[in-house]
Amino acid sequence: MAANAELVHEAGGNLEEPGCARKPSVVLKGSNPLHVPYVTAWSPEEPADFDLIIRPGNRGIAYRDETPDDRDQRGILLKRTPDAPGRGKPRFGIVHATRQREAMENLLCQVCGGPADTDQEGTLWLLQDHREDWPDWPDRMACTEPPVCADCAALSIRSCPALRNGHVLVRVRHAPVAAVHGVLHGRSPLGSVKALTPITARFDDPVIPWVLASHLVRELRCGRRCGRLFSTGSDAR
Ligand SMILES: [Zn+2]
Repeated sequence: MAANAELVHEAGGNLEEPGCARKPSVVLKGSNPLHVPYVTAWSPEEPADFDLIIRPGNRGIAYRDETPDDRDQRGILLKRTPDAPGRGKPRFGIVHATRQREAMENLLCQVCGGPADTDQEGTLWLLQDHREDWPDWPDRMACTEPPVCADCAALSIRSCPALRNGHVLVRVRHAPVAAVHGVLHGRSPLGSVKALTPITARFDDPVIPWVLASHLVRELRCGRRCGRLFSTGSDAR
């Protein structure tokens, strides 16, 4: 088992509203402080084994020992994930499902967990540059990455080689929570539950009762009038 890292926590900001607390991101002590994003999973947060069943009437999947906490307010079944940020080792590249959903639902910065940067132009998103995907990209993009605050956007661009080579900062006024990302399940020939394929499904999709959801998805609606690209990779101003 990995030894616990020695940790310090960044000071939180002032709180203006209950429930809007700036949550501490974690910095590993050392000569090169390592910022661990708020949504990054830690080694003790490996999901435990679980047992899924088919609901009576073939009405989708459920946990055999399901509790009310296993579904969101929409009734969607959620992937169970232990919560132990700051313990063990960070698993860079692995997103913690519960913190991702919390950040996405509440428009929190994916790096520090504080409020994402929002002004009259919209909320700030830092995306890898995929402008060649379609003409009005990222308009209508299904986004699983929560937004960012301005300080963390600058830090991320400096510290992440992939973002240094090509990124887009965009403000989005309208980004409704529109879907979940997870794994679609079905019934095996023997009648048990079988994982089929990763899926992004809208809340009104008929397959939703068969999805074990991990992440919330917002749809970025940033048509020419409401979105504003103001910094991109090598041609950043
Ligand atoms: Zn931040």
